[in-house]
Amino acid sequence: MIQFPRPRELSNNMTDLMQKIASLAKRRGFIFPSSEIYGGFGSCYDFGPLGVEMKNNIKKAWWDEMTKTQKDIVGLDAAILMSPKVWQASGHLSAGFADELVECKKCHKRFKKDEIKGSKCPECGGVLTKPRKFNLMMKTFIGSVENETSTSYLRPETCQGIYVNFENVLNSTRLKIPFGVAQIGKAFRNEITPGNFIYRTREFEQMEMQWFCQPKTADKFFDFWKKQRMKWYLNLGIKKENLRAREVPVKERAHYARRQIDIEYKFPFGWQEIEGVHNRGDYDLSNHAKYSGQDFKYEGYFPYIIETSAGADRSFLTFLVNAYSEVKGGRTKTTEATKEAEVLLKLHKTLAPVKIAVLPLVKNKPQLVKKAKEVYQLLKTHFSTQYDEVGSIGRRYRRQDEIGTMYAVTIDFDTLKKKDVTLRNRDTMKQERIKIDKLVECLKKQL
Ligand code: ATP
Repeated sequence: MIQFPRPRELSNNMTDLMQKIASLAKRRGFIFPSSEIYGGFGSCYDFGPLGVEMKNNIKKAWWDEMTKTQKDIVGLDAAILMSPKVWQASGHLSAGFADELVECKKCHKRFKKDEIKGSKCPECGGVLTKPRKFNLMMKTFIGSVENETSTSYLRPETCQGIYVNFENVLNSTRLKIPFGVAQIGKAFRNEITPGNFIYRTREFEQMEMQWFCQPKTADKFFDFWKKQRMKWYLNLGIKKENLRAREVPVKERAHYARRQIDIEYKFPFGWQEIEGVHNRGDYDLSNHAKYSGQDFKYEGYFPYIIETSAGADRSFLTFLVNAYSEVKGGRTKTTEATKEAEVLLKLHKTLAPVKIAVLPLVKNKPQLVKKAKEVYQLLKTHFSTQYDEVGSIGRRYRRQDEIGTMYAVTIDFDTLKKKDVTLRNRDTMKQERIKIDKLVECLKKQL
């Protein structure tokens, strides 16, 4: 983590591919720069109509994995603002949560020390200051008086809310060790060098699970959770060759970690962490016991904690990059391949923001439009569905491919006679006729 930096392959200049993905994301309503009408705001982003659907799908897939597929995990939703004492106990107010920063004496740009190669400013070649520690926590003030007693922090990680509620969870449920607590929520870090689109931002969402266990079982559970987390990404379509688990050496580990693996994805800008699995030992419970005076022991010992810590936004970027593909000359092979490259977003069906598009073959035939709208009404209560009548049918298929829509349902003249529709599969482009009264059932099986 932050205390022990490692060389990064990141740069703030996005690669061509990242530029294309970012521009698709904006054009199609996945991600907008925050406060854009005022020129944007320091690496903050807003999730648009499709983005919010896809992000919710990612969070739901994670939540279901933890609280339904796995055993003995319950949920929690703690407040973002917590007593500043929490951050004393966790080590975040001391050097444990600080990056080393250098500043250019000429252009005054700031950089993380570990991202600089050589001793000169990478922007203008100026002389750099000596490194100094920079705490990443965002300060805020509670109440109407701005003084030290009212200072609080926006949480830099969600897990502390779980540790301070350890007793509450135990007392309010029938859980016994080992058990886990899962939480999804916002976290904030005043990152020195945010960048690469939504890879590193100052406001982000984490999906964290804390597994409380006996010290002697910690190694076993560490391996178990590492495997489970790798599987989760693979099951949601992440390409195997672009995913790896990197054992983090002692000198690079977070201040609390006895063992750490970073799950990394091969982005266009290099291999980068998308999730950390940590054996936090008894660091958290023993420190909170010390600072709060509470007895956090369980049957006479402090449980060890295995943590799986993923980012919802980073996962979003991972799934988006993983799904993005361009087909040179267009996808349709029946016409001459003279078209420009077409974009296909091969998102996993669980994550695709739109599952079905309903398309009347042409829009100037009122009976077709009427029927298509009826089919749209039928489907939209079951699936995330879009209705589109603008432009040629080929164009509309391409628009849907670009956002990863799983199926297109086309209403044509035969529909009016035979009460069936054409169902087009995004990935194979195969088309089959399905009776309207079988459509919901058939799609439920596929999706
Ligand atoms: P990094 O080395 O990238 O700064 P970290 O090791 O500090 O990350 P952790 O504290 O282990 O990260 O956080 C766990 C997860 O939270 C990360 O794997 C990532 O998915 C997410 N995360 C952390 N910081 C950010 C950020 N600034 N923007 C987006 N996601 C983040």
